[in-house]
Amino acid sequence: MHKVLIIEDEESIRGFLNINFKMHNFLVIEAGSGEEGISKARIEHPDIVILDVMLPGIDGFQVCETLRKELSDIGIIMLTAKGQDIDKIQGLEMGADDYVVKPFNPMELILRAKSLLRRVRDKADQVQSENLIYGPFVIDPYSLKVSKNNVELSLTPTEFHLLKLFIENPGRAFSRNELLDIVWGNDFVGDHKIVDVNIRRLRVKIEDKDSDGLFIETVWGTGYRWRKE
Ligand code: CA
Repeated sequence: MHKVLIIEDEESIRGFLNINFKMHNFLVIEAGSGEEGISKARIEHPDIVILDVMLPGIDGFQVCETLRKELSDIGIIMLTAKGQDIDKIQGLEMGADDYVVKPFNPMELILRAKSLLRRVRDKADQVQSENLIYGPFVIDPYSLKVSKNNVELSLTPTEFHLLKLFIENPGRAFSRNELLDIVWGNDFVGDHKIVDVNIRRLRVKIEDKDSDGLFIETVWGTGYRWRKE
């Protein structure tokens, strides 16, 4: 059974999400504050975390940053307030895989969570166990581990799938729409900024500091491409 941790201080929303996730066969854990959420994540190691931005005490951004330092393999969906400029939402830079704007349709959140779950749980379905090697990068599709020059990189499930897709298709330009379809799932109806945020974060992790865009090139007006050797 897939485990979801809901970190939300508003009891009514938390309870509502609990019912909805349970109907879709998730095992639900609730936390009413960021502190409680972090400690429950450490103990329970959920597959997915639904994380509200506005929390008393430490906020969702700080929770996201803390979780990412310790648990890079869990999926994180942030709940953001309406009107929040997505470009300024630091939590996404901190490592969220996706976000949903309040008020939201619970079915949409469930679909996003299921799509993310596929990225998180891909490991179990992998039949291919041969390493993918590209330049300094080695991807082990079975353990979902990536290293660059023999140093292990700590990638989120979404960053991992983006990198794998690029390395499997060197030189191919992907539009933001295609990336949304392939990585986030066909039923995704969100905007493209989540793609840019995740690419930006992936670049910080994989590019050499003084050679930005050496591996992931921006295709102007369209999307991104892995530079061919
Ligand atoms: Ca809240």
